[in-house]
Amino acid sequence: MDDMLPGMPARLFVATPTKLLTFADCKRRYRYTYLETPRPPKGPPWAANTVGAVVHEVLADFYGRWPASRRTPDEVVAKMRSSWRSEGFRDEVQSMDWRERSTSMVLGYLRDSDPYYEPRGVERNVAFTTERASLRGRVDRIDERPARDRSGGTELVIVDYKTGRRPLTPEDARSSLALAVYVLGARRLLHKPCTRVELHHLPTNTVAAADHDDTSLGRHRDRAESIADDAAAAEARWHEGLSPAQVDEVFPPEPSPMCGWCDFVRICPQGRRAAPPRDSWAGLDDSAPVAMDDAS
Ligand code: SF4
Repeated sequence: MDDMLPGMPARLFVATPTKLLTFADCKRRYRYTYLETPRPPKGPPWAANTVGAVVHEVLADFYGRWPASRRTPDEVVAKMRSSWRSEGFRDEVQSMDWRERSTSMVLGYLRDSDPYYEPRGVERNVAFTTERASLRGRVDRIDERPARDRSGGTELVIVDYKTGRRPLTPEDARSSLALAVYVLGARRLLHKPCTRVELHHLPTNTVAAADHDDTSLGRHRDRAESIADDAAAAEARWHEGLSPAQVDEVFPPEPSPMCGWCDFVRICPQGRRAAPPRDSWAGLDDSAPVAMDDAS
C-alpha cells in the first residue's frame, strides 16, 4: 500500500471464498496455491473432483444452455458420456463404473424437474465489496421463486450442487461462508430479496437448506473480512520479500489429519507426517448403492 497517495481509497483485497478458506485452513497451502510462481507441483487429479466437475458441467448445460426440447434423459446420458474423463480413477473399469453411477445420479436429480424451468442464473458470477475486500464467486444456480412472505413478489435462492460422499445437513448450508457470500453477491447483482441457501446433494438426492438473516450474514461478512485482512497483510510481506525462515513464519504449515487430501502433501514434510497421501480415487465411495435411475 506504500505506493498509494494520501487520500486515495485503500486497494481492496480481491478473494473468493475458496481463497479465504484456504488461508484459514493452512497458510503454507495458500502460499503454494496463490503466491509461488511457478506453482509447486500438485499431486495427481482427484477422481472425486472429476465426478463433481462433469456433473456440474452437465447441469450447467441442462439449465443454462439447452432449450426445453433438449432437456431429455437421452440428451443427459449422451452429454455425460461425451463429457466424461478418466482423471484420477484407479483404472478404466473404475472410471466407467463411476461414469454410469454419476449418470444415474444426474438422471435421478433431474427426474422431476420441469423442462421449461428457467433459473435466474446458471454459473453466475457475483461479487460485493466490504470496506476492505472485494469478495466474489460463481454460483451453480440462482433460482427465482415466489416469495414465501406472500408479498406476491419473488425471492432468489442460492443452489449449490454437491457430489461428495458425506450427506449434508442444514447446518452445513448455514455455516457455509461461500453460500453467504453468494447471497450477498446475488442481492447486489439482481436487486432482489435473497435469504435462502440450498445444498443439493446428488448422491442422496436430498436438499439441505437454511435461511440467513442480517445477523448470520453479518457474521459471515465479518469472518470473511477478518480472514481477508490477515491474508492481505501476509501477502504484503510476501511481496516485500521474505527470507526462507520468514516464509514459514508468515505462511506456516498447519498439519492435520486432512493433509492426506492436500494437493501438496508430497512436497510438505509436516503434512506427510500428519497423514500420508491418499490415493487419488480415495474420495469415492465404491460401495454406495446407485438407485436413482437406470442410466443404461
Ligand atoms: S500437507 Fe497439510 S500442512 Fe502441508 S501444505 Fe498441505 S494442508 Fe498444509
